[in-house]
Amino acid sequence: MADTKEKTLSLQGIGASPGIAIGKAYLLERDDLEVIEKRSIRPEEVGAEISRFKQAVQKAQENLRQIIEDVPEEYRDHVYILDSHMMLLKDRMIYDGTIEQIKENHLNAERALKIAVDKVKAVFRSMPDQYFRDRGSDIVHASKLILENLLGTEPQKISDIDKRVIIVAHDLSPAETTQIQLEKVKAFVTDRGSHTSHTGIMARSLEIPAVLGLTDATRFIDTDDLVIVDGSAGAVIVNPSDQILTQYSDRKALLEQFQAKVTRTSHLPAETTDGHCLTVDANIEQLEEVVSVMDHGGDGIGLYRTEFLYLNRPDLPSEQDLFDNYRDLVEIMGARQVTIRTLDIGGDKFATSVSWGEEMNPALGLRAIRFCLQSPEIFKTQLRAILRAAYFGNIRVMFPMISQVEEIIQAKQMLHEAAESLDKAGLPFEGDIQIGAMIEVPSAVFMADILAEEVDFFSIGTNDLIQYSLAIDRVNKHVSQLYQPLHPAVLRMIHRVVQAAKTAEIEVALCGEMAGDLINVPVLLGLELDAISMNPISIPGIKNLVRTLSFEESKRLAQAVLEQATTSGVLELIREVYGTSFETAAFFQTSGE
Ligand code: PEP
Ligand code: MG
Repeated sequence: MADTKEKTLSLQGIGASPGIAIGKAYLLERDDLEVIEKRSIRPEEVGAEISRFKQAVQKAQENLRQIIEDVPEEYRDHVYILDSHMMLLKDRMIYDGTIEQIKENHLNAERALKIAVDKVKAVFRSMPDQYFRDRGSDIVHASKLILENLLGTEPQKISDIDKRVIIVAHDLSPAETTQIQLEKVKAFVTDRGSHTSHTGIMARSLEIPAVLGLTDATRFIDTDDLVIVDGSAGAVIVNPSDQILTQYSDRKALLEQFQAKVTRTSHLPAETTDGHCLTVDANIEQLEEVVSVMDHGGDGIGLYRTEFLYLNRPDLPSEQDLFDNYRDLVEIMGARQVTIRTLDIGGDKFATSVSWGEEMNPALGLRAIRFCLQSPEIFKTQLRAILRAAYFGNIRVMFPMISQVEEIIQAKQMLHEAAESLDKAGLPFEGDIQIGAMIEVPSAVFMADILAEEVDFFSIGTNDLIQYSLAIDRVNKHVSQLYQPLHPAVLRMIHRVVQAAKTAEIEVALCGEMAGDLINVPVLLGLELDAISMNPISIPGIKNLVRTLSFEESKRLAQAVLEQATTSGVLELIREVYGTSFETAAFFQTSGE
């Protein structure tokens, strides 16, 4: 790594929100809970130390309340995160835990707080789920507020930033993020965080480029360093050479022109030059993203990941909570189709409200449909909510991680029972909805002909299918170069599933991340998928590309790539046929490699 600041330095992290930003860095302090003075106190000082701690908590609550009050309009949707921090300030493990340390070990309040926080952090860190590991940082953020009051230090005033900058931070607490004036932020760069961290979620919904999970960006970047952030490739370049700067400036200008142009036509269908229509849907994780789906011309919602409603709370959502959310969604979408995926919890997403045993291999463990079939009450609550919402809009349901036909049969039986119970209760619902299976496990690929007899549609989840077929952990950065969507084995599996769907005359869609990458689209079109579904921001570019393609030519390309032995062979073929087109060439140079 670089030892002088002027040297160009490239850092690779997680591209959590796409787009390119070029600008001066603004470094926020590292998380200072790490270095805390240890001081013993005399027994007679215990009472005073406890009240000093309690006052600091009270002060932290007042600070946070003020921050919540001052949250600007565009961040209002995210206030719930700050509310949860407010609760964390009085969390039993932190609050009582600190007091206990002061009483029993006669420690100063700062040190006692650190010990209590470390214990809670360890609990979160041991969770196999990335989402909950990220929630561990919420605890740190909340306790930092208490610490600042104990130490009497003034929190860094992000609200004072007076020029447009790239925020570089160890981690960004939601309290910090909401204080930043949106128009002052060109991009976010953090050591911590992932696709599911709050910074990632917010950055995507605000369309600000973000590269997270860089481990030590705060060690290598200083305030005022010139930085390039490529949120699509997950790259950060510090002190770029003139040549790199020019390259990225050109690419950024091209991207912006391109995005502006394609957004103007994004409401039009993705029809090829020879008249074939490909449905281009959106993947969403939260209701709020529906605005982005509309703005970017999504034909419908191809994947609603419903986990979020279960993750941000200590208890399970009620049928009414779920119903209200699904109903709001379908009412906004009107006639457009909304595909609700049932709970895909476990694996890398866990809920506090459910007790989980230790799992050595959570990705292969009790997740998704396996968990739901073992938890009929939780599953039926969601199914009832889906059927009730279907009365108000165009809903279909799909089941994740199907690995054998019995799971579909059982899930359908439960859906049937949910409908019967609603009927008995006299509640309005729509029982006649389309049912789909996600194809994301190799066994489902090979049994697709059998599964097709049981469902109305397939949706291929390549994020998991690649993970399970190439044996590449999708969240392990050490093997990320082996995670290849255009691996011939992946393409052959997609082909096989499409063939099974065509024979059974059911619809087949693909909703993995690869659908949103331009370089993959000619092949996906040629493999004859009926629909592809992606993050909303990618939709305009993808629709625009489809309009320049010939379906017949794409089919010939698909046949040729199926014969290839290697990913690089596949890429070469795609470039040979499409790489010279002006607008797409710029993207083909950097994506997919
Ligand atoms: C997939 O696996 O491709 C998918 C769309 O689902 P998720 O990313 O939520 O696992
Ligand atoms: Mg999946």
